[in-house]
Amino acid sequence: MAAPAVRYLQPYDPGHDLVALRRRFAAGGLVELGSNENPYGPAPRALAAAATALAELHRYPDPLGGDLKRALATKHGVDASQIILGNGSHELLMQLAQTFAGSGVDVVMSQFGFAVYAIAARAVGANLRVAPALPPEARMPRGHDLDAIAAAITPATRLVYLANPNNPTGTWFAADAFAAFLARMPGDTLVVVDEAYAETADAPDFASALSLLPAHRNLVVTRTFSKAYALAGLRVGYAIAHADVIGVLERLRESFNVNGVALAAAEAALGDDDWLRETLAANAAQRDTLAAALRERGWPVSPSQTNFLLVEFGEHVARVDQALLERGVVLRPMGGYGLPRCSRISVGNAAQNRALLAALDELASDSVLFSTDGQV
Ligand SMILES: *Cc1c(COP(=O)(O)O)cnc(C)c1O
Repeated sequence: MAAPAVRYLQPYDPGHDLVALRRRFAAGGLVELGSNENPYGPAPRALAAAATALAELHRYPDPLGGDLKRALATKHGVDASQIILGNGSHELLMQLAQTFAGSGVDVVMSQFGFAVYAIAARAVGANLRVAPALPPEARMPRGHDLDAIAAAITPATRLVYLANPNNPTGTWFAADAFAAFLARMPGDTLVVVDEAYAETADAPDFASALSLLPAHRNLVVTRTFSKAYALAGLRVGYAIAHADVIGVLERLRESFNVNGVALAAAEAALGDDDWLRETLAANAAQRDTLAAALRERGWPVSPSQTNFLLVEFGEHVARVDQALLERGVVLRPMGGYGLPRCSRISVGNAAQNRALLAALDELASDSVLFSTDGQV
């Protein structure tokens, strides 16, 4: 009975059953490095605001999310009419396809792009065109190839989804390359830049696409409170674009899509820059340390501007994943992304990363992972 476009869809694959695993391991015993969550937890101010908001649970939330939008508008130097809030940015990525794509429309994404884009496009019956990614030996292994993406655009293309930095590769594209790409895009093709990891990016050639908004009515930037801001459980994301684009998106928004606790906590989190700086510094330091430790052990690690690392365990990947699970360490298998030789490892705090490395070292001393010459 399902609509034709939905008939052959696969649901979003969240990886392991974390709730079952948490029950299996003693309280706090599970090292969860599979979902790119912030291991340091939310800003204390966000927690306090959430607790206060609990007293209002009998009320509907502000359907306009006015306070949070105004805070975001100030932070990003845009007008509040240029912002739409979502129940996580996932909701907005789906809504973009609902609003601007459909049967007879082409939607373009990159190979190894975020899985939600394909679901969003296919769910509305659009034709998905997947541009090949950069090769594994490129400077940005398996990253977005902006030329290949531009070449995949047809006159029927209304939507392009890019992620910068990208999940699951961790790679990014340079600000000047993206500006040139955007200049080549037809005006009737919306370019969605998913910046779920923009806060963790500190490379000199990275820049948010937000600065290009005034000159490009066909640009949409999505952000989330789930990653750097550590509010994944509350589900708040947002998109920034020309007010006319936001106005059309608003027509399909569920009236009370962001709950009151989430609105209050997100607004408070925005007001705590010191906390954000600390959490980002900790992530960057641990990211470098963990990447170096993995490379030292012989495992190739992609460059990353995010809070996770894409690691190549090659032929050992299934055994590593299973053996780590038995030791209470959860990674994200990448088979579903067409990367069956890789795992995605969220950058944990120091203790979690030590536990991961200790478990890997235990496996390495197990002869199963090694050939006779000691090479993995
Ligand atoms: C995590 C993630 C999101 C979705 O986050 P929400 O929790 O729905 O806001 C969107 N895009 C990418 C690339 C992500 O990794």
